[in-house]
Amino acid sequence: MRLVIKVGTSTLTHSSGRLNIRRVEQLCKVISDLKNADNEVVLVSSGAIGMGVSKLNLGARPSDMPTKQAAAAVGQCELMYTYDKLFSVYNHTVAQVLVTGDDIENNDRRNHFKNTVFRLLELGAIPVINENDTVSTAEIAVGDNDTLAAIVAVNVKADLLILLSDIDGLYTADPKKDSGAKLIPFVENLDDKIYSIAGGAGSALGTGGMSTKIKAAQICTDGGIDMIIANGANPEKLYEAVAGESIGTFFKGKK
Ligand code: GLU
Repeated sequence: MRLVIKVGTSTLTHSSGRLNIRRVEQLCKVISDLKNADNEVVLVSSGAIGMGVSKLNLGARPSDMPTKQAAAAVGQCELMYTYDKLFSVYNHTVAQVLVTGDDIENNDRRNHFKNTVFRLLELGAIPVINENDTVSTAEIAVGDNDTLAAIVAVNVKADLLILLSDIDGLYTADPKKDSGAKLIPFVENLDDKIYSIAGGAGSALGTGGMSTKIKAAQICTDGGIDMIIANGANPEKLYEAVAGESIGTFFKGKK
């Protein structure tokens, strides 16, 4: 299978922004094993800003653009250093790919991006994709990595996109506020009801919330690609997802 796995800041870091070492080690181990079992994996990873905030001791996610971009520049190094180190343990090679919305919009640049990712997969590497936050401004940004991961999944013709988050999937209501909220295991149609329960809000360090995940599901399923929202707290669940077992919320791609 060709998998695109998106990891959110809340999965990679503690609320302080510091690396969640146990989690990231498990994630790299499982992804390495999935590769050893002949799956292709493209990782879309957030965490640059969050890790930069922690490394620069900024205390909280900055709101001004230059500080955010400076934090991303520092954090992106830390992120790739971490992946390089952890995947090397299992003899896997990572490749950093940074894009902006502009690169996706422009046909030529999008083709270069696709060719590079396909070549990296042929060479056996793990492309690690993030938005190029140091140069991205509102006008040219994709804006969030759920959307970016969906665009990547469609462009690389993935079999499945898995969005790993700090929630088990899509619920009938916000489970933080409503104890009667129930997990929706399967979504075939992204109708108004699904949109209305997706709400807003994300974590303190990340960007996405449920609404960006539903937008990602729309892009994916319109492009004929299946998508799963699952909790990143237990990376071993990726094995079940690849085996076709039900985890989190599954969105059926339109065939
Ligand atoms: N590109 C941002 C980062 O690496 C994350 C965007 C997102 O979380 O959606 O910090």
